[in-house]
Amino acid sequence: MHLDGQTVAILGAGRSGRAAAELCLRLGAKVTVYDTGTIVGDWPEAITLTPNATPEMGKETRADLVVVSPGIETAGDFAQAFAEGSGGFIGELELGFLNYRGLVVAITGTNGKTTTTELVSAFLNESGISCLPCGNHGRPLCDVVLDDEPPESIALEVSSFQLETIETFRPDIAIWLNFAPDHMDRYATIEEYRAAKMRIFENMTEDQAIIARSEEDLESIKSKVIRFMSEWDDEADAEYLFKDGLIYRAGVPFVSLEDTTLRGLHNAENIMAATAAAHEAGADLEKIKESLKSFVPPPHRCELIRTLDGVEYLNDSKATNLHALEAALRSQLRPVVLIAGGKDKGLDYQPLTGILGEKAVASVTFGQIGQSLAKVFSSVVETRPVETLEEAVLAARELAPPGSTVLFSPGTSSFDQFSSYVERGDAFREIVKQLK
Ligand code: ADP
Repeated sequence: MHLDGQTVAILGAGRSGRAAAELCLRLGAKVTVYDTGTIVGDWPEAITLTPNATPEMGKETRADLVVVSPGIETAGDFAQAFAEGSGGFIGELELGFLNYRGLVVAITGTNGKTTTTELVSAFLNESGISCLPCGNHGRPLCDVVLDDEPPESIALEVSSFQLETIETFRPDIAIWLNFAPDHMDRYATIEEYRAAKMRIFENMTEDQAIIARSEEDLESIKSKVIRFMSEWDDEADAEYLFKDGLIYRAGVPFVSLEDTTLRGLHNAENIMAATAAAHEAGADLEKIKESLKSFVPPPHRCELIRTLDGVEYLNDSKATNLHALEAALRSQLRPVVLIAGGKDKGLDYQPLTGILGEKAVASVTFGQIGQSLAKVFSSVVETRPVETLEEAVLAARELAPPGSTVLFSPGTSSFDQFSSYVERGDAFREIVKQLK
């Protein structure tokens, strides 16, 4: 790709915007970065920076190409003002893809993307095929493309936001992990959210492969589909199955979940999907088994912090939606005291009461949705609404009998009280470590 002498407007000055700007500069463009807030850090001098940018500025700008960061709403006034009258309007993912020559394994789904992305990368590296996890998780793709020696393959986590602005993006292998309501503060309907995610398949043909759950109905797909499932059903035609703690491949036992560093049904699904994708990309099955023994799961995903007075404290701060919270609850084998709450994302928590009643002995709710969550949860378990995370941990400690698990799985995003799920999870870890 060449952009010699062309004008490029980059929207958003975060990590993705920064990487996109530097890539466009290398490709010969005159680059201006626009952000509605401040712009921090040392940038190359040749890049023009425009902090506090407005839609009015966008209307006056006629760039040859506009590259939008995933955090900016594609359909919002700001992005649309720049899109109008520009020569092209793409996302950072599309720009990175247009400039990457290696094999692309793309991973999408509502939950499990990061774990699966890390697994795919570990499996390929162990098999001697260099691979980097990137995209929505890790480094932006444009940043990887800027490396002197980009890897032979990438495990690319893609979000629905990034898929909104693709044009030619076509992975060699795509994993569709699962689909559940989320981000209802950005999408008007669940169909709109699904349609954005389904764009991952848009340019795929019979030469590429898709990995999906057996029950997923993927409309009008041309590629070969490899299925995985976690319930045994003789009727089902799935290459990968999980039953009684064992993962089967083509009807033959492949690996026992006990022999891996991961736990829970949802992680069995992540392993099956990652194995199928990595094997399709050329990874060796024995090497996959080996790397599963030493795989270090990413933090904030059912991470065991400590055991105190016979109570286990698990940090699942990454559970930013209902589906993740449900998966975390479902995989618990001990009685649970659930801590949930955070920003009001407009999700309906009623469907959770069944599994909550089954697994939890009590719950503590906090944050912006604390009170409304408490109304729903108290119909099935004793529930205490509090304000802060610290109060929540103290209340959970009082409620948790020996032999139980305090599960911090918020079920929504952190932005009412924290800057990210990482800051929220780190805060939980610290509070729990201080308990005497
Ligand atoms: P993502 O990158 O899609 O957010 P993560 O791997 O970071 O996925 O996991 C996010 C949350 O979802 C964690 O709370 C984790 O316990 C839960 N989770 C992981 N894999 C799955 C899955 N396959 N199905 C449902 N929930 C999952």
